[in-house]
Amino acid sequence: MGKEKYHRDRAKEAGVTLKPCPFCGGEARLKKHYKMQDTWYVQCNKCKARGGLQTQSAFEHWTVSRDKAIWEWNHRFGEPQEDFNTWWYTRRMALVEEEKRNRL
Ligand SMILES: [Zn+2]
Repeated sequence: MGKEKYHRDRAKEAGVTLKPCPFCGGEARLKKHYKMQDTWYVQCNKCKARGGLQTQSAFEHWTVSRDKAIWEWNHRFGEPQEDFNTWWYTRRMALVEEEKRNRL
């Protein structure tokens, strides 16, 4: 049994697909820091390149720092990018709508 078995796909839980690594094209994974509390980042499985650490601030929901890590990783230089709040609320609303549909 591979070590991978024990990894949760946290990006999938967040309802987001991570882009491949900009350096090597490898598969990326959303991770929670094992030491720092409520801190998230995205890392390439292959070359281990890592996005910035995002730590939850006092007045934010825990999903905000998680989603910031995703948003930052998926932003590529030279490509247009929605600001974080717009992206976050749009996605949140879509998830709520999807949940409603699934309940019908
Ligand atoms: Zn890589």
